[in-house]
Amino acid sequence: MNILEDICELTPAWLSGRGFRAVLADLDNTLAGYRVNEPDAAVALWMAELKKAGIALMIVSNAREERVAAFCRPLGLPYLAKAGKPGGQGLLEAVKRLGVNANETVMVGDQYFTDMRAGRNAGLQTVLVEPRVKGFWFSLRRLYETPFINRRAERL
Ligand SMILES: [Mg+2]
Repeated sequence: MNILEDICELTPAWLSGRGFRAVLADLDNTLAGYRVNEPDAAVALWMAELKKAGIALMIVSNAREERVAAFCRPLGLPYLAKAGKPGGQGLLEAVKRLGVNANETVMVGDQYFTDMRAGRNAGLQTVLVEPRVKGFWFSLRRLYETPFINRRAERL
């Protein structure tokens, strides 16, 4: 598991340098705040750079279809809602839909117990990022996650 501050640090250079051709990304608090239906300027630019570099991006979220579709459809992004994280099955389905190999795919998200565990369960490399909005619940959760994160962490 790698740790980055922000999803925008997952640049095409970082990805292709490690042999990645596809990114599976969590939605809520990884790409946008809860209930925010569009990426901010930095995330929109990051998405455009990935596209230009030919790196596939698919959203894999545990949220409802309506929420995930509202964000992804206007962007033309493939997605899987109600993905069943921390189970790895949804991620493997996403990998298959993208037509890439698991070892060319990285899972990125803001939660250890759902996103990182799902990535590991699917046999994917993982990147934990700081959430886009850091509120009270984040602080509480991170307190609990920290010993687990530290055990797995590869700080960059
Ligand atoms: Mg999240």
